[in-house]
Amino acid sequence: MKVYFLDIDDCLIETSRLGKDELEALRTALEKLGLPRSAEITAEFKKSFHLLYDKHQGKPKTTEDESELEKYMDRLKVLQSEIISKWGQVKKWSRECFIYIAAEKYGVKLTSQQVSFSARLLWKSIAGHTPFYPDAKAFLHKLITRKIPFYLISSSDCRLTFDDRKNLFYYEPDYSKKLKIGRLKKLTGMGIPEENIFLGDPFDKPDPRIFRQALAKAKKVHGPGIHTVTIGDSPENDLEPAAVAGIKELVWINRHATLKSNHRFLTVPGFDSLKI
Ligand SMILES: [Mg+2]
Repeated sequence: MKVYFLDIDDCLIETSRLGKDELEALRTALEKLGLPRSAEITAEFKKSFHLLYDKHQGKPKTTEDESELEKYMDRLKVLQSEIISKWGQVKKWSRECFIYIAAEKYGVKLTSQQVSFSARLLWKSIAGHTPFYPDAKAFLHKLITRKIPFYLISSSDCRLTFDDRKNLFYYEPDYSKKLKIGRLKKLTGMGIPEENIFLGDPFDKPDPRIFRQALAKAKKVHGPGIHTVTIGDSPENDLEPAAVAGIKELVWINRHATLKSNHRFLTVPGFDSLKI
């Protein structure tokens, strides 16, 4: 029996496109707070987010981009020093941190309330514009109607809170998890049970732990002889940890025709290329 393990963001649904609406929501939030330089802060947010996102998707980078990203990560590690020492991981997708660091670059020091207000409005806009990729929706539909078992394995949204006194971000896994499950109504609304959705809180991808948990659950429910397949859009975050966890077949959904295929994984341009 085949059992699928599917990534969610930018694999099934389009999460990180960061379009005009999402950026406008952020700019408006900053403006509502009466902060100066809202347009520049938003542009800076967009720039650093794309630097990190392109790297995550395996797109080649210029040396200048690499050094910008390194600077961003250095600042992030300082702001998350307590998180790193407690959880052993930097929460690099935290929109709260992107916003905070972008504002800092323009001399604007955000308070905890300003960070959470602007991140909340940004996420509200993101969650309202995360359409299914049509091929992914058709694939999911086939799995559901043919009763083929599948589990969803998704990164944490890294929802963090700022501590004004310490000037540091902190992380509560349950808080972050609850907000993410809330934004996945599109999937839970299709009848996918919450217990079949594995989120990267507290140990986020590429830590293989959530892959191991999902695999253990699949074996418990369907027996040890299952044939396991992982499908994801990120070699580093989805396929490599899945391989470490012992999932057999690894499929890279590479929607960017410009990216080279990766010979360690089956590389396809979309779900339509896969036979169930
Ligand atoms: Mg993804």
